Amino acid sequence: MYDLLIKNAVVITVDPAHHVYQNGYVAVRGNSIAAIGPMEELAADAAAARVIDARGQAVMPGLVDGHGHGGHCLTRTLGDQYAQWDAMAEDIYFRYTDDFFWYAESALAAAERLKFGITTGASMIASTPRPDRLEILQAHFDGARKTGIRQLAGIGFCDGPWPKHPRVFEDGVFHEKTLTPEQVVENTERAVRELNGVHPRQFCIVAPGNITPRAEDTPDFAAWKNREMARIAREYDVALHTHARAGGIAFTYDTTPELFGPHTSLTHSTGLSQREIEIVAKTGATVFHGPTTRANINVRCPVYEILRAGGRVAIVTDGTAPDRSYDIWRDMKVFQVIHRIHEHDDRLAPPGLVLEMCTIRPARALGIDHLTGSLEVGKRADIILINTRQPHLAPFNILPEARLVYHAQGQDVDTVIVDGQIVMEHRQMLCCDENRILDDATQAQKALFDRLGPERMAKYTAYPGLYDLTAQVVTDEN
Ligand SMILES: [Zn+2]
Repeated sequence: MYDLLIKNAVVITVDPAHHVYQNGYVAVRGNSIAAIGPMEELAADAAAARVIDARGQAVMPGLVDGHGHGGHCLTRTLGDQYAQWDAMAEDIYFRYTDDFFWYAESALAAAERLKFGITTGASMIASTPRPDRLEILQAHFDGARKTGIRQLAGIGFCDGPWPKHPRVFEDGVFHEKTLTPEQVVENTERAVRELNGVHPRQFCIVAPGNITPRAEDTPDFAAWKNREMARIAREYDVALHTHARAGGIAFTYDTTPELFGPHTSLTHSTGLSQREIEIVAKTGATVFHGPTTRANINVRCPVYEILRAGGRVAIVTDGTAPDRSYDIWRDMKVFQVIHRIHEHDDRLAPPGLVLEMCTIRPARALGIDHLTGSLEVGKRADIILINTRQPHLAPFNILPEARLVYHAQGQDVDTVIVDGQIVMEHRQMLCCDENRILDDATQAQKALFDRLGPERMAKYTAYPGLYDLTAQVVTDEN
């Protein structure tokens, strides 16, 4: 007797042998996959508490989005043309938010991800992490947990200058505090110790904003920061997840080689030198590549050079501010197009590889590939059903991986299962009130905008040249 039986579907397993069953089934017992295969191998007397006849649906492992930012769903579009976007984000996240903001944003982000078929999402809290209070991380996990998503999140070193002066909202007013580098180390360690695994779908990781030294950091300080982050990740056996760019990987390898390993993920990795490509390949770290990110637009991530050198790459959304989405299906297609253009090769980035880059490959880098990332017996039942009975996907009869990567989009995901629990069915969220999530988000954002005040809001929403050939940058002066 199974708890859940999905049958008569096109099943794409993304398992090591790349099994696809044109007419297949997936059987779930408890939170795990108990059996999977072609329909003719399903026992005639197989019974289940719940049966889904998935005719007209494709079944796949839930998608894994390895990188996004807590906070970004309530700041997206803001400062789109503002010259100092990073400074704006630091200012907003460190000085104008309360705990309700972090909770409401996280629920909204998790709902967005789930509705696009992402069953596991990893998020760095704020733009570079806000590590002064664990209550913020707790609020983030609480918001995500409402939806049923598998959530990884973490804190670590934020950008300076030091000491930093975050503000805390207490008794209706903001109080300014002081945050030292030593406190960041202490809080990062406490976060992992106290928040990792508190709930079955809650994973606290180490997530410093950058390993690349900033102009104001001395090399010794930058190396010390990286060493402490690597130490915590090792001691507590959790993933280390960070942004990286040209120069930072070489610097870190020369000063803190222990930071690199199979559970290290390096978001962006733009402009890498040949030596840095080789470092990525030989240490087994994974580049988390955001095809639609501004970082990648400004300086290219050498994806194919890394892959040819034997390095690992996954696709991430980097959702969602100022101009991105958690619809990772868009990133799959953009990924193919930009690398095909760059290499002048219209067969590059084949769809099966692309699907792996949004499932098993990021799961491996985050240290959770024994749980999720493919449909295999014994793994957790993180499963998505995609409605293929629509004009842009039908008739769904040949090369299903290609059909999905080329033509599907997030809204085609019909049903989402995490840990064997159906959390969305026919696009209705089942374990949370979606309207409440939207209303909470609206309320939290209004409170934020009120605090920012009319002058800042005018600057952050200005878009001179919105209909011109080239928009104009907004500065503090104009
Ligand atoms: Zn990012």
